[in-house]
Amino acid sequence: MTVSEGNEGDVPAPRSGDEPKFETPAAHVDFPPVRNGVDYLGSVADHLNLGQAYPRDGQELNPRHLKYAVLHLQAAAEVLLKARLVQEHWSLVFKDPGTAKRDRFEAGDFESCTTTGAIGRLRDIAGVAIGDKPAKSLAILAKWRNRLQHYGLTAPAPAVEVTAAQVLDFLVAFVHDELLPALPGPEAAAVADDLVSVGADVRCITSYIAARVKRLTDELKDVADRTVMCPVCDQWALVLGNPAIPLDCRFCHTTWPNAVLALEQYYNNVVMDGNVQDCPTCTQHTLLVEAVGTTASPEASRSLCFCCGTDFAVTAQCSDCYNAFVPDPDEDYGLCGNCINGAVDRF
Ligand SMILES: [Zn+2]
Ligand SMILES: [Zn+2]
Ligand SMILES: [Zn+2]
Repeated sequence: MTVSEGNEGDVPAPRSGDEPKFETPAAHVDFPPVRNGVDYLGSVADHLNLGQAYPRDGQELNPRHLKYAVLHLQAAAEVLLKARLVQEHWSLVFKDPGTAKRDRFEAGDFESCTTTGAIGRLRDIAGVAIGDKPAKSLAILAKWRNRLQHYGLTAPAPAVEVTAAQVLDFLVAFVHDELLPALPGPEAAAVADDLVSVGADVRCITSYIAARVKRLTDELKDVADRTVMCPVCDQWALVLGNPAIPLDCRFCHTTWPNAVLALEQYYNNVVMDGNVQDCPTCTQHTLLVEAVGTTASPEASRSLCFCCGTDFAVTAQCSDCYNAFVPDPDEDYGLCGNCINGAVDRF
């Protein structure tokens, strides 16, 4: 998946003041962006009304609140991730650190790296452990923010809530572990206070989510062999093979107009491996071979069709390209579809 992001705004520029800047080690540098970022987090919790009692009794969140929740969460992520990069070295927030100039940094006048770029640098240069799940949620969030600016918000409210909860949960811990220790005492105390309140709201929604997951697991136990992980919310709640189209995630209600698009996103976000072939049962090009995990069998080893939901137990190895494939019982040449087509093309 490619995520293009804007870079405008919310760059952690140093505070203009009399104190010497950047002559001293990181511990002496002040980071007002952290307070700013945590303030955004509080705004997200308010817009999503996270502190309220769940469930919402069918009350949908107002689209305007959802919109500002996405914008402010993305702003918070940018500010906070980049504040940690600045601790490492100020040049790392430049899109191209090789051309970084200190006066431009101090003026806040430069093109900064993307959120995805910041995550990469935090992992590779600063040695900060950022799990794949939060990284994925951050990428989804960045995509929504971009789409929002051009087309308005197209993601369903529950998907925004779930992704926002995952990102909030990550950012609260990130501020606590990575940013607070380097802040001067009074600043750290103020940020810590704000964090406590956001953290309480996040726990409120995460316990609600946990309760829903439990209920859903129960509801879906009869289709456990064709329920896969949703590529948006990471819950085991995407039931394949339902005659009803569009496909939708039973947890976050993200919908896909057809199985091909659901498979594409699943492939990009969840597995990034395995071959796709025509399904011998329904003939659609939506059978992912030996790469799908289901609720019944979570290790990613099943061969499942995203259209009809058939789980093919038997796979063979293509005698030409050696890839695994599901043989069609009617015409088994020992070759996968690609190699059969290739052989046909040669004649
Ligand atoms: Zn979902
Ligand atoms: Zn099929
Ligand atoms: Zn082959």
